[in-house]
Amino acid sequence: MAESRDPVADLRRIAFLLERANEATYRVRAFRSAATAIANTPRDEVVERATAGTLAKLSGVGDVTARCVTESLAGEEPVYLRRITATAGTDLPAEAAALRAALRGDCHVHSDWSDGGSPIEEMALAAADLGHEYFVLTDHSPRLTVARGLTADRLRRQLDHVARLNEALPDGFRILTGIEVDILEDGRLDQEDELLARLDLVVGSVHSKLRDDSARMTRRMVTAIANPHLDVLGHMTGRKVAAAGAGDAAHSKVRTRPPSDFDLEKVLAACLEHGKAVEINSRPDRLDPPKRMLTVAVEAGCLFTIDTDAHAPGQLDWLDLGCERAALCGVPAERIVNTWPVEGLINWTASHA
Ligand SMILES: [Zn+2]
Ligand SMILES: [Zn+2]
Repeated sequence: MAESRDPVADLRRIAFLLERANEATYRVRAFRSAATAIANTPRDEVVERATAGTLAKLSGVGDVTARCVTESLAGEEPVYLRRITATAGTDLPAEAAALRAALRGDCHVHSDWSDGGSPIEEMALAAADLGHEYFVLTDHSPRLTVARGLTADRLRRQLDHVARLNEALPDGFRILTGIEVDILEDGRLDQEDELLARLDLVVGSVHSKLRDDSARMTRRMVTAIANPHLDVLGHMTGRKVAAAGAGDAAHSKVRTRPPSDFDLEKVLAACLEHGKAVEINSRPDRLDPPKRMLTVAVEAGCLFTIDTDAHAPGQLDWLDLGCERAALCGVPAERIVNTWPVEGLINWTASHA
């Protein structure tokens, strides 16, 4: 008989690949909850149930996931996994692959503390598996109530939690503290100064009044960029594009959104003057900034980050998409702050505030 595989690892791998393909959350959740259920059941019982055909009676396990477990235990790669592996991933062009290899971490990641779908530790373990040295945990700020933005108190609790998690994480990987703070209509940042000062890195993003006229939007962004706490300007245009690979009904309801109106030269000049980075957001439904703007930012001499804005573990692998665009627009690796050693990154953010 073939040696059995690890069914929990196979279920997690399927969830990861589905997330990377931007599949609907409910479909991914079936595999994540089955993985947890199997991990929490003694191996003997799992084997007995597989033989008796009663795996699906375990809470969290369904017919499809039960079949995967049975195949894993029999030493076969689950058919479901084989099918998605066959369709996943294309090779990156050489320049993009070189950028991807140079990235040490990700500066924009969400957890289930705000609108992400997974606990911080699950995101961290997936990032460590991808070879990251760190990610910056950047859950939302209070004003973004639809995304369960963190109040000052909840953020303080999150900082304590992250400190404890970091003790237990694998060597060579750490969670840096951060926030994706809303840039308010007057350009102020939506969190207490004392807290912003404590964080390793602050991404500032516009999430409201995206249709404001160019003069107001420019003033708003420039004010925020000048704020010493802000380090990275997140998804600068706020546009939404039709995401490739999102074939299901839930995603087809996502409306596209044109880029905001602002004076690009003034915004880039502010980034340059204050030494702030422009985010290259890799989300397939954002791909922000558009290539023409990215090219202007490269010529202006700006710093950059390449981030995933991941809301689930598999989305941490979207860095490829950002690297592809960065390579096309000629972004030099040394101007991407997440290619720097982590001490250099932290020194840079600390140099602003
Ligand atoms: Zn955002
Ligand atoms: Zn975000």
